[in-house]
Amino acid sequence: MFLLKETSRNAYNNDRRESKFRKNFHKYFHFNLPQADATDDVLRILVPEELENLKAHLVSGLIEQKFFRKFRFLGKFLLVAVDATGNATFKKRHCNHCLTKTSKTGVVTYSHYVLEAKIVTSSGLAISIASEFIENDPGRDYEKQDCEQKAFVRLAEKIKKYFPRLPICILADGLYPNNTVFDICIKNNWVFIITLKDGNLKTFQEEVGLLSATASKQSVYRANKVSRTTLEYTFLNDIEYDGRYFTWIECRETIVKTESKIASEQRFGYITNIPQNQKSIVETADSGRLRWKIENEGFNSEKNQGYALMHKFSRVSFIAMQNYYQLMQIAHMINQLVERSKECIELLSEHSKQTIANLWKRLMAYLTSNQVEENELLHFQPG
Ligand SMILES: [Zn+2]
Repeated sequence: MFLLKETSRNAYNNDRRESKFRKNFHKYFHFNLPQADATDDVLRILVPEELENLKAHLVSGLIEQKFFRKFRFLGKFLLVAVDATGNATFKKRHCNHCLTKTSKTGVVTYSHYVLEAKIVTSSGLAISIASEFIENDPGRDYEKQDCEQKAFVRLAEKIKKYFPRLPICILADGLYPNNTVFDICIKNNWVFIITLKDGNLKTFQEEVGLLSATASKQSVYRANKVSRTTLEYTFLNDIEYDGRYFTWIECRETIVKTESKIASEQRFGYITNIPQNQKSIVETADSGRLRWKIENEGFNSEKNQGYALMHKFSRVSFIAMQNYYQLMQIAHMINQLVERSKECIELLSEHSKQTIANLWKRLMAYLTSNQVEENELLHFQPG
């Protein structure tokens, strides 16, 4: 269902009714398509850690094959973005792990959120390495709900368990610059580049303000057909916060449109435990900005490009919901590799209007209306 971007169990069942599709499926996967209800029964009782283990095992395989080698930050670290996303919202209580929210008018909504850790790359990959559901414990006090901050502590334990020696650089948004996160990263030997908003870490930012005249600077100029971009990087090492020393980074980006001459400016601030120099600053600040790929290439693709992240795959079982989510992560990973394969890139370059969505549509049409012969089986090499 997820690999073929069929966004509901019903769509999957309809495919399964087509005899050609059933036969083709067997040719490729060497087993019969199970009924969606039978799969659902299994997913309601399967311990979610099983699929999390499988996902981690697959990612480890990619790491061992040096798949991410060319994307390493400072020649060493894998960039791991951390962020939460909604997974489902209900008008009635769905399970006793639901998070609840009461509106001003007293209407209660029930929802599920998941905190994700995804390897992100400048080429646009966003591959899940660990997922932690933000969930209420039925035995716990109702008033104190679980939250992203608490879930991060558990997510970090998971990442360390599955990838104990992997050199990791954590990328996170303005919710994360705090001592709990710094402690976890330092204890695990991880580096971090965390977004610093104006209100974050007051004493740290005050010291930055006092020392700003002594900050080191670096500029980069980039131009293409439509715009000219100037990037001004500023950094200060050894800024004290609560007895520890970190580096402050700022990047100011000015984009001028070539034709209209309209200029726009953006400012990005970060705190990192990687001391900076003139050689590292551009790569570090640019890597910090890759954090948004977890939202765009990650959550946005899963919501709007064939995975139906917000679809209620299980209306009754919290366990099944987690298992569908893990399966979606695995399918999304596999599809990202297929979409970057030599074969897929060739198909995409056939004409300028070709899209991945259309290729998948054609693939489904092919599988449901053609009897694939043994010698026609396609084999993809991950690019
Ligand atoms: Zn629930």
